[in-house]
Amino acid sequence: MGKGKTEVIVIGAGISGIKASLDLANAGISSLVLESRGRLGGRLCTEQMESGLSVDMGASWFHDCYTNPLLKKYWESGKVDFHFDDGKFSYFNEEGLVDENKRLEPVAKEIELFMEDLYTKIPADKDISIKEAVYQYLKDKKWCLTDYQLKHVPQLVRYFEMWIGSSWEILSARTIATDKHKGRDAMVMNGYSTVYNGELEELVKAAKLSSQGGCSIKLNSVVYKIEWDAKKREIVVHSKNSLTNKSEQFRSNFLVFTAPLSVLKLTDLKEEGAIEWTPPLPPTLRNSLDKVSFSNLGKVFFEFPETFWNLEDDRILSLARGKIPNGLDYTILFLNLAKPTQKPLLLALISSPLTQYIEQQESQEVIFEVFKPVLSRITNLKASEIPKPLQIKTSKWSADPYARGSYTGVTVRDDYEVALEYLMNPTGIFDGSGRVRFAGEGVTDDGNGCAHGAWVSGAREAEYIKRVVNKAKF
Ligand SMILES: Cc1cc2nc3c(=O)[nH]c(=O)nc-3n(C[C@H](O)[C@H](O)[C@H](O)COP(=O)(O)OP(=O)(O)OC[C@H]3O[C@@H](n4cnc5c(N)ncnc54)[C@H](O)[C@@H]3O)c2cc1C
Repeated sequence: MGKGKTEVIVIGAGISGIKASLDLANAGISSLVLESRGRLGGRLCTEQMESGLSVDMGASWFHDCYTNPLLKKYWESGKVDFHFDDGKFSYFNEEGLVDENKRLEPVAKEIELFMEDLYTKIPADKDISIKEAVYQYLKDKKWCLTDYQLKHVPQLVRYFEMWIGSSWEILSARTIATDKHKGRDAMVMNGYSTVYNGELEELVKAAKLSSQGGCSIKLNSVVYKIEWDAKKREIVVHSKNSLTNKSEQFRSNFLVFTAPLSVLKLTDLKEEGAIEWTPPLPPTLRNSLDKVSFSNLGKVFFEFPETFWNLEDDRILSLARGKIPNGLDYTILFLNLAKPTQKPLLLALISSPLTQYIEQQESQEVIFEVFKPVLSRITNLKASEIPKPLQIKTSKWSADPYARGSYTGVTVRDDYEVALEYLMNPTGIFDGSGRVRFAGEGVTDDGNGCAHGAWVSGAREAEYIKRVVNKAKF
């Protein structure tokens, strides 16, 4: 290996990048991780409230507990405090708490079936939004629904906005119809960084033990160009140090690209984080990336002087009405964090376009005004009786150039499947030998969009490189 050259360059120090480096180090293969931010973890990001409480601005749950490969490992390690928040679930509309006997939930479940059925019948290139699908169902089944169900069930189906982070007007109903997630969700109470740090500790150990498989991580290294040196048959990665503005070059035989697809799809090179590929990425990939969307799940943590909401609930959903800046106009899911933490803490999950509005606000007063009517609705208190929070802390992913939203989400008429297929089996890049690999939450079928899915994809790409390197040795 020439001076300044590593076997593998990994772009991004999120969980997928770290997992790829860890498996490579265990196999004695060296890697260099280039990370644009001044911190590790990517969208696993645990911060502290002023009171010292840990809150996750990115991932909170281990999703897909039935199949999640990380759950048992971290459960048994004792490092992670898990909390299943799938107990009592209440939802409110303009008339107050919705009575279970109005039977909105069974109808919402039937709408999911309707969507599944719909996609077995319509042509593959036809797509409709969740909103359109819901109204199509109501038209078909009007004769067996009550007036109350007809009026209120559409707003309950908007619960999906809370999982994906986009408005039901643009979310593809295909997302629900083809959902592959399996099992319960376990919330991490002591910060998802415990999971990231667990993987990092293993990486440090593996890199120390390995004779050749060292690993270094460079923070503040914004990659802006990836090129193929055909003469030397090497990949050349150019990065700029965001603190000093100094450019650097690194060389490798393989590349694992793990930056979010929202970054990969950028074509305007003036955008922060955008990357120039020389020679350019194949048109099939570029065209399919144009049809990949990113969603905007947002988080707002409220720490109050005391609790004033129903402590028996795990989740409290406020059903939507229509426009910013009144929170009543949006679907908002409250997670009662007072239950697991014994502290007056509430988390509101919000989606696009409310997320972008809230994440831009500097003033806690402005944010509080948006949520006050909703808190009043779900607690039956007058708005004037809602105590002022001690602190409000919001996520900022929508304006973060290295995330540009929360995660991959499918909007109407996207062609994500084509991009996914290509990125998982990349051909035709540089010398066409498959030395450029892609990983991350958006490049996996298994646990798509999730932290464990990102981890699985990092392992998959390390496995691929290990196979090729070992084959070349013998
Ligand atoms: C609000 C929110 C809530 C979520 N909730 C959950 C949840 O409850 N459960 C769950 O499983 N998942 C959840 N997720 C998704 C989960 O956080 C991600 O799937 C996972 O962390 C992605 O890991 P990754 O390695 O693919 O990407 P990232 O963590 O984004 O890592 C990619 C890295 O690439 C870096 N990068 C970007 N551009 C460049 C560049 N030009 N040069 C160098 N580096 C670059 C970035 O800084 C980043 O560190 C949530 C995400 C958000 C935002």
